[in-house]
Amino acid sequence: MRDSFGRPITYLRVSVTDRCDLRCFYCMTDDPEFLPRRDILDIEELARLCRVFVRLGVRKIRITGGEPLVRRGILDLLRPLGAEIGAGGLQDLCLTTNGMRLARFAPALAAAGVRRVNVSLDSLDAETFRRITRGGDLATVLDGLAAAKDAGLAVKINAVALRGINDDGFDDLIAWCGGEGFDLTLIETMPLGGLAASRASQYLPLDEVRGRLARSWTLTPSDHRTDGPARYWEIGETGRRLGCIEAMSHCFCATCNRVRLTAAGALNLCLGRSDSVDLRALLRAHDGDAQLERAIRAAVAAKPEGHDFAIGAGVAPVPFRRMYQTGG
Ligand code: SAM
Repeated sequence: MRDSFGRPITYLRVSVTDRCDLRCFYCMTDDPEFLPRRDILDIEELARLCRVFVRLGVRKIRITGGEPLVRRGILDLLRPLGAEIGAGGLQDLCLTTNGMRLARFAPALAAAGVRRVNVSLDSLDAETFRRITRGGDLATVLDGLAAAKDAGLAVKINAVALRGINDDGFDDLIAWCGGEGFDLTLIETMPLGGLAASRASQYLPLDEVRGRLARSWTLTPSDHRTDGPARYWEIGETGRRLGCIEAMSHCFCATCNRVRLTAAGALNLCLGRSDSVDLRALLRAHDGDAQLERAIRAAVAAKPEGHDFAIGAGVAPVPFRRMYQTGG
């Protein structure tokens, strides 16, 4: 599938639930609204949609949420998808998680065909972590990471850069990731819902972060690319990579290859836009996939050229959709 700007769409992010066992303050309110259960696709529906996307040319699927490991039956989705890898269609199945349940799930994930997990970990300081996640326990995540390593999963750590909140901890994260053999990706905060004022004051451009890090680390720009939006630097002292996802300061829409499916079956063509196409209604109305395929092709053809994110005092955030609702 190509969109009207000639971009091949090969990467699907699938949210399997909007529920989460953490409450990161930049992602959710402390009393988030969740979808009614009847609106959430069941595992067979999710699997059917994934298969349709793979038939249409998707080669990489990332399972996300909410928190994907709180979704009951998640392994029943991952196993058949994992079994498809290498059969000519799907090439890569990965998962983004907060790590809280990794200790329990890591061996089963590996057995299901997941090879890589991205673990969101914004701070190695237990108190900062607890504050950001509104109650999360750092030790539980670290146990989960150890289990992921033991299970042979490749691990990448993702941290959102928040001025005045966790930006004194990036040196520790780099050193620790080096020791553990993990790559690290820093992410600029995006204005998805929430208060414009706090977003603006917490927004930290990653050019500035790299400038600070360069005092302690040898950062060399790297040609390394994945299917994702990060740019990479080699860290001389650790031999690991630093990825930077700069949605705000270095727009990467021109190479976007992604679409997102929410847990309710809404297809979002762009993280920074609030419109979507309802695939659930089609899925439930028809036994065959022809209508779904037509709707997906039409939606992809109409994928917007780019997001219209803006951040700053007085700038309204993108209305109503937060990351846990879309799928991060
Ligand atoms: N629960 C899983 C996790 O923690 O990775 C998957 C879902 S979570 C919504 C996915 C990612 O979105 C996390 O890395 C989180 O930090 C990031 N995120 C949430 N809100 C964000 C925002 N406004 N700007 C940038 N990243 C955000």
